[in-house]
Amino acid sequence: MSYTRFDAVEEAFVRTPVKVEPPAPATSEYYGCCVFNRKNMRKYLSADTRRRVYESIEQGVTLDRDVAEQVAAGMKRWAMDMGATHYTHWFQPLTGGTAEKHDSFAEPYNKGESLEEFTGKLLCQQEPDASSFPSGGLRNTFEARGYTAWDPSSPAFVMGDTLCIPTVFISYTGEALDYKTPLLKSEAAVSKAAADILEYFDIKNDPVYSYLGWEQEYFLVDAALYAMRPDIIMAERTLVGHNSARNQQLEDHYFGCIPSRVLEFMKDLEFECYKLGIPIKTRHNEVAPNQFEIAPVFEQANLAIDHNLELMATMKTVAERHGFKVLLHEKPFAGINGSGKHCNWSLGTESGIGLMSPGKTDKENLRFLTFMANVLKAVYDNNALLKASVMTASNSHRLGANEAPPAIISSFLGTQVSAAFKELLETTDMVHIKGKSKFSLGIPQVPELLIDNTDRNRTSPFAFTGNRFEFRAVGSSANCASAITVLNTITASQLRIFKEAVEKRISAGTPKIQAVLDETRETFRACQSVCFDGNGYSDEWKAEAAKRGLDCETSAPKCYDAFVSDETIRVYSDVGVMTSVELHARAEINWEIYSKKIEIEARVLADLTANHILPVSTRYQSILLENVSRMKDIFTDKKEFDQVASGEIDIIKEIALHTSEARALAVKMEEECDEIEALDSARERAIRYHDIIVPYLEEIREHVDALEMIVDDEMWPLPKYRELLFIR
Ligand code: ADP
Ligand code: MG
Repeated sequence: MSYTRFDAVEEAFVRTPVKVEPPAPATSEYYGCCVFNRKNMRKYLSADTRRRVYESIEQGVTLDRDVAEQVAAGMKRWAMDMGATHYTHWFQPLTGGTAEKHDSFAEPYNKGESLEEFTGKLLCQQEPDASSFPSGGLRNTFEARGYTAWDPSSPAFVMGDTLCIPTVFISYTGEALDYKTPLLKSEAAVSKAAADILEYFDIKNDPVYSYLGWEQEYFLVDAALYAMRPDIIMAERTLVGHNSARNQQLEDHYFGCIPSRVLEFMKDLEFECYKLGIPIKTRHNEVAPNQFEIAPVFEQANLAIDHNLELMATMKTVAERHGFKVLLHEKPFAGINGSGKHCNWSLGTESGIGLMSPGKTDKENLRFLTFMANVLKAVYDNNALLKASVMTASNSHRLGANEAPPAIISSFLGTQVSAAFKELLETTDMVHIKGKSKFSLGIPQVPELLIDNTDRNRTSPFAFTGNRFEFRAVGSSANCASAITVLNTITASQLRIFKEAVEKRISAGTPKIQAVLDETRETFRACQSVCFDGNGYSDEWKAEAAKRGLDCETSAPKCYDAFVSDETIRVYSDVGVMTSVELHARAEINWEIYSKKIEIEARVLADLTANHILPVSTRYQSILLENVSRMKDIFTDKKEFDQVASGEIDIIKEIALHTSEARALAVKMEEECDEIEALDSARERAIRYHDIIVPYLEEIREHVDALEMIVDDEMWPLPKYRELLFIR
């Protein structure tokens, strides 16, 4: 007996929601209980050790060996009290997701005994066999050493039975092999560069941080249906599947009532998140059927990114408890919205000054415009790099399609900020800005207005939303560090350039604030082409953007060239975030990953066509043939026969056409893959996968989807869109 699509549908339908009993205590009582946070440190570390740890977190002071030993001992006791038996250095390889190798605390001791051991050295550094992580040629397999090193600024946590220690991952020679290393460097760079500018505004000793609030979109599908879809299992998206008659056109899913089974999943997920100290705030339905969103309150970027990665891992395990599979792919279903991960990014000081928040006084507003102009200039000069940082094989289905931001990076400012900049450009007499000046930027009332009343533009990839920028082009499966590192780095570099120019003006005799104002004006003047408040989906914009010098490339492999452009290398080495060698490695890895993803899709689709679609289609065709030949016996009159059988004969011909085309294309596509695989250059391979293989995927799909509409529903082996999307 074979397990059919209908068995899977039935299984999905009979599933009743797993009831999640609300935890008895208030959230605040168990919040962060799985994190080695200050509250837990107080129980397990001496006051002196704690002070040294805080110093290390806040000021980046390196912990000495003795202190590391104390921390390790306390952390081990805490973790064991939490039920942990293993520990792992938890890091973020460039494959995406996180990596962990679990080691047991247990150490053999005497003969036949063991004790639990965890030393300062094990806490601080590990040497995983890293040969199978992508390195872009930084590390040959024969010297496969990579090191993981503890990042005390993100607290250790217990997940399941394992103590997870957030770490960076670097090669033997010190190059970054992960996302976290450059992120931390970019945070330091932008923090320093922004603090230097704040001095012009008499703000000193108030450290600057970059902040991130992500909004994670995802799809849920029933686990039984998922198990029947080799394409989703292998490629995380449907490579075939006809649209269902109803999808999102009624717009009835967005913000709609959350289905009960999904709600139970969400509650369970939030419970797990709170235990890990992830400050989840929002949950709702998204635009597409079976699409949802979860979002926390923003945090310092490094922590927010770790939390997002913890969330993505947790979602998968919690979903399994509820008979769901989570799809984090950017475009699991054709024809309906894909998933993104809006990254709300800002800079702010420890004391709470938002550098992207308009102020109440002229001076505060000048500060606001100064940081805004610099961010915009950075985005303008590096728009191709910013796009490259979010472009992947999967996200390229979103970018440029009419649902997500276009594949052109521009910024939406809204009417009020645009007006303020316009005024800035037009006003020349600004000498009297001090004290009660005759000049006013005219926006002292802006904060209240903006925050409650910012106009929205859904088509803008980098929109100002009152006190932050919302970078919407980031993909749902991405590690946000890729985008945030670029934002921090290019802003840091631009702020340094700005400072130099202001210093020049001051040396030439211009008063300080006047110099800042003049330079802000010129900075904005030079980058105003990046601002665009119109419809980003329109064809006119594509033409206009090209005229403005914005990068309009849509081919992911070609976008990656921006990682190694002269400008990128200059910016990154200026602020010390990555070297030319590291950037080349990154481009190389991106090309590799792109090729592998498309190759997997091609191989899966070829299998699916040969093993699932064609056999079923020809079987159905045989049934029709049999029927037609029987009819011939009954309807001996040719005219009469033609009349009754012609419809079926047409279908037989159509099946023949689609199956033969699909078969031929699949064979040809695999041959092309083999040829591409033989090429030496990673860039060239990726470009060919994009130019040659992707069109095959689309063409084969058309034939398969046509067959889906012809072949007997009862025979069709794959769960259909209407089942995947509407069973919940
Ligand atoms: P939206 O209105 O875009 O649907 P929300 O209002 O829920 O979204 O906020 C989106 C995210 O932006 C949240 O994570 C929120 O904490 C975050 N956010 C708010 N202010 C800032 C800021 N100054 N810097 C960074 N993120 C912020
Ligand atoms: Mg948003």
